[in-house]
Order: sequence, then C-alpha cells, then structure tokens
Amino acid sequence: MKKIAIIGSTGSIGVNTLRVVEAHSGELCVVALAAKQNVRLLFEQAKKFRPHIVCLFESQNAGWLERKLKPLGIRVVTGIDGLVTVSTFLRAEQIVFAMVGAVGLKPLLAAVEAGKVVAIANKEPLVMAGELLRRKAGRSGGRLIPIDSEHSGLWQCLEGRSKATVKKLILTSSGGPFFNRKVDFRKVTSREALRHPRWKMGPKITIDSATLMNKGLEVIEAANLFDVSVDQVDVVIHPEAVVHALIEFVDGSQLAQLGITDMRLPIQYALSYPHRFQNSIPSLNLASVKSFHFYQPDLKRFPCLALGYEAKRRGGTMPAVLNAANEVAVQRFLGGSLPFSQIPKVIERVMASHRPVKNPSLAQILDADRWACGKAERYE
Ligand code: MG
Repeated sequence: MKKIAIIGSTGSIGVNTLRVVEAHSGELCVVALAAKQNVRLLFEQAKKFRPHIVCLFESQNAGWLERKLKPLGIRVVTGIDGLVTVSTFLRAEQIVFAMVGAVGLKPLLAAVEAGKVVAIANKEPLVMAGELLRRKAGRSGGRLIPIDSEHSGLWQCLEGRSKATVKKLILTSSGGPFFNRKVDFRKVTSREALRHPRWKMGPKITIDSATLMNKGLEVIEAANLFDVSVDQVDVVIHPEAVVHALIEFVDGSQLAQLGITDMRLPIQYALSYPHRFQNSIPSLNLASVKSFHFYQPDLKRFPCLALGYEAKRRGGTMPAVLNAANEVAVQRFLGGSLPFSQIPKVIERVMASHRPVKNPSLAQILDADRWACGKAERYE
C-alpha cells in the first residue's frame, strides 16, 4: 500500500487523483486531504476515503467539518499551518500537489524539505520556485515528479537514460483555439478564448493555452524539473495532442510518448511509479487518429512563448515575475478590462522593469510575485 496525501483534493486534478486511488484500492490509500474552501466535497471525500487528517484552508466552515468528522476519528486542521501539517504528514509517503496559487508554495517547500516524493500537477510553483525547490530536494533527498501531461511524457522517455545521451526535450502544444484561425487579437472575446479544441480545463489555463503562455510556463517547468538549460527545450505544435512529448538523443534518434488525452494517465503513472498499474481507461487507437500534424510555433503571433524562454534565461526571480504578471493580465482579460492582444505586452513591460534576484529565497520570490501583480494591475 502506498500512502498518499493530496493537497487540493476538491479541484479537477484532486478529484481525478481520487478516482485513480479508488480504481487501485489494493495498491493505494489516502492518509491526508487538503482543500481550499469546498467544505461539502471535502467532507464527502473524507467520509469515503477515511484519511487520518484533513485540512480546510479557509477556516470559517471548519467547526462544521470538525463536528462531522470527529465521530469518524478524523482530525481537522486549518490555514497555512494546516496545509504544512498535511504536506509533511509523517505517514504520507507521497504528496500529490494540486493547489493553485502562491499559497501552495510554503507547504510545497515544507514537503520537499521533509524529504517527501512530491507529484506536482500545477506548473506555477515549479515556475516560480523551481530552482529553490531543486536546491531543497538536493539537500533533503526529496523528489519532484511531474503530473503535467507533457512532463510526464518527458519523464517516461527519460527514465533510466544517462543525461549525457540526451540533446533535447521536446514538448508538444495543441496550438490552442487560435492556432490556424485568422482572428484579430484586439477583438477576441473571453468566450472565444475559453473554447479550447482538445482539453476541458479551468479558465486560467485555457487562456494560457490560447496565448501559448501555457507552453511558455511549461518550458520553464521542464528546465527546472529535469535540470537542463531552457534552450535545450523545444516546442512543436501538434493539434491532435496524441504525442505529448519527445526526447532527442545526441545521435539524432528521437523517442516519443503517446496516449489519449486523459489526466488519469499521468496521475496514475506518478502514483504507480516505479511500477505500472493496469486500468480500464480506453487505449489509444492510432488507426482511428489516422494522421498526425506538426508545425513550428509562430513566436510573432504568440509572443508569450518567447517570454517564457526569456524569463528563464534571465533566471532568479524573473520566472516568478512572468508568472505573476501573466496571472493578473489573464484575470484582467477575463474581467473585460484588457484586450487579448495586450496580455503579452503587459507581461513584457513588467519584466522589463524588474531586476531579477539571483538564487532567491521564498520571501524574495513572494516579494517579486506581489511586486509584479501590482505592476501588471496598472499597465495598459
Ligand atoms: Mg501540459
């Protein structure tokens, strides 16, 4: 039995993680759960999976939850200290980290410092604090493993290879809703941008897919996870989204990871690693896909991808600034106060006025995050 803690159990990754646990109840069990505010769902999950401890980050309904869970012998904790209690829970062998936003950084660092195996679903913490996380993991013996589908693909291709044999990591991108459509980015509405051709996801990541910032964040994520230069990470547009990632060896040979677009696959691999579980998820049928297409990304039309590379090359706090400025720009676009075409311009301006701090501490990363949010609120 592998004992799992899930931070962010009521979001879509958390819910899918619990589906995987349920389908493999002979191999996996849940010992701790944490959620931000969805107290009803957290209660249902706790009743069903019987963890030792649950954390409700926002404490106003914690009394109700405590009364409901006490008879079941489940302890309730709250706030940032509660999240840290869950992420460092002694009985948990592996932590699935799926909480959105900067609030997750402290519990994530604590888990890594405690030497846990941490499966990370959100790219933001790896973008903001990738270097710091790697330093901490190096000291504690903790390990970061990916759930993001492209990175899971890279990880599966890289497993057991010597780093010296690998020349390039290649991420695929579906291209988003505007890849082959002639649209005026100054007039794009949030409804158009939220219509993603392949994946059904939350609004933030769907807009990031439309601007290609999702891929800009993912190149940084890949460089941080696999400890390579960002210039060794390539992106290719692949609208079918069947090939998730490839690696190229020094001799030019390439290896790809393919699969259907179902988040349970990368989640399950992260949980079963170093083994593999059988499941009832439908397999990929290449004969029904029939053809694959690949294209070079257009960095002029989609400058956010280039900004991702630029932020990582400059390093230090710059990726955190890119991430924060993007988050605010996307919120402003969704709220109707910023045109789609201005999202990259705002991020570029915020980056241009930031002087990155090398090897930043958590406090310096959070400072850069706050500073960039403030700037991005004001720029046009
Ligand atoms: Mg991805």
